[in-house]
Amino acid sequence: MELKTGNLSKNLIMNSLLKRFRQSIALHLLTTIFGFYFLVAVVVTVVQLYKEYEDTKINFYKEIQTLPATFNRGIIDSVWTYNNELLQSILLGMYNLPIIVGIKVESLDHKMDLQIGTVLNEKDEITYYDSSGRVTEQKEFGFGTDTLFKHEFPLQYQGTSFDHKIPLGQVTLYSNNQLVFDRVKYGFILILINSIIKTIALWFIIFYFIKKYLGQPLKEFTTKIREQDVQSPQAIDLNLHWTDTNELLILKDSYNHMIQRLNEHKLLSITDKLTGLFNRLKLDESLNNEFNRSNRFKRSFGIIIIDIDYFKRVNDTYGHQVGDQVLIQFAKILKENIRKVDILGRWGGEEFMIICPETNFQGTIKLAQSLRKIISKYDFPNIGNFSASFGVSIYNNDENIDKVIARADNALYKAKENGRNRVEGKQ
Ligand code: GH3
Ligand code: MG
Ligand code: MG
Repeated sequence: MELKTGNLSKNLIMNSLLKRFRQSIALHLLTTIFGFYFLVAVVVTVVQLYKEYEDTKINFYKEIQTLPATFNRGIIDSVWTYNNELLQSILLGMYNLPIIVGIKVESLDHKMDLQIGTVLNEKDEITYYDSSGRVTEQKEFGFGTDTLFKHEFPLQYQGTSFDHKIPLGQVTLYSNNQLVFDRVKYGFILILINSIIKTIALWFIIFYFIKKYLGQPLKEFTTKIREQDVQSPQAIDLNLHWTDTNELLILKDSYNHMIQRLNEHKLLSITDKLTGLFNRLKLDESLNNEFNRSNRFKRSFGIIIIDIDYFKRVNDTYGHQVGDQVLIQFAKILKENIRKVDILGRWGGEEFMIICPETNFQGTIKLAQSLRKIISKYDFPNIGNFSASFGVSIYNNDENIDKVIARADNALYKAKENGRNRVEGKQ
């Protein structure tokens, strides 16, 4: 059973690999390019072959036409002298030429008629004769290419004592398309091998470079996008082989630009505009995260709510703008004096909150006290000293986060009641 499952998953992997290969840009492009290329190549090759075939056929005619000049004298002599043996040997010599498939000699008195090879009879039927001139049934040539074409020339005796020629008969030389084709065949095979090698080489070259310059970077791009942390996606880099502007570079830059804008937007949505600290939205999210985590791992965390004492007076005395500057400076002091793991944000108005992960009650109180001291001693530009009150609570297996916040709120209220510039806490 286990073996079966193993094979099954192996098959699945193979299938998905195959599918991915079939889906690759390189393969798609190559299929399209070579589909068209193949069509063009076939058409060009067929045209080229046809032309070659026609040219060769013309050359055949020309070569056959030169034969009478070479053999005519001997044939005429042998017919004139009734020398059958001589005629037969001359015809055999001609028959052995690679452009001839058959020869027919017809003498006027029919005494010297002779046929060798493939010839046409009186009814224009193809007939086969062996080298001694006997009819055989043997078919030597393939279908379609055995069409005969012939060249006839007359036999005329020119005796030394006559000034006119005496007709003796005629010789017909036969050739066929198969011979023409045989001659073209070699060139054709060369052309075919040549184009097959070129095509295969081209296929691999194009495949390699499309994969290298397009497929690989796109694959890398996809992998890197997939590996991105959804919470904080980062700009990515690609191993591109070109440095000048191209579509891939533009794609990558556009992606990075989008990521940057996304991050900026996200940061903006969780940032308080005045102080640059986290806003209420982010504090709420962090409180929930911290609550869930502590719940799951049975740990505790502390929260501190801070409210500036008599802040209305700052506004009333120095104006709202100075009040804003004080809030900015106040936020900066808090930020500089907490730990890296603490989460600080503006809770609202002139109230701030610090979430202290993995911290117990004493630890949280201690941090609040140190901040209270720093604030109370700080000399704010223009307005001098002022103080703030701190309400502290910790997560104590509460059923919801509101309970923890409410305790910190109560503690803060107590700190105000007990004279301000104080830290109060409720476990
Ligand atoms: P206490 O907390 O000690 O009881 O006295 P308080 O004067 O600070 O009273 P409270 O906290 O209720 O007042 C908050 C004031 O803070 C009211 C408001 O005018 C001011 N405030 C809130 N947000 C801003 C702000 O963004 N800029 C400025 N300049 N003032 C703000
Ligand atoms: Mg207040
Ligand atoms: Mg206040």
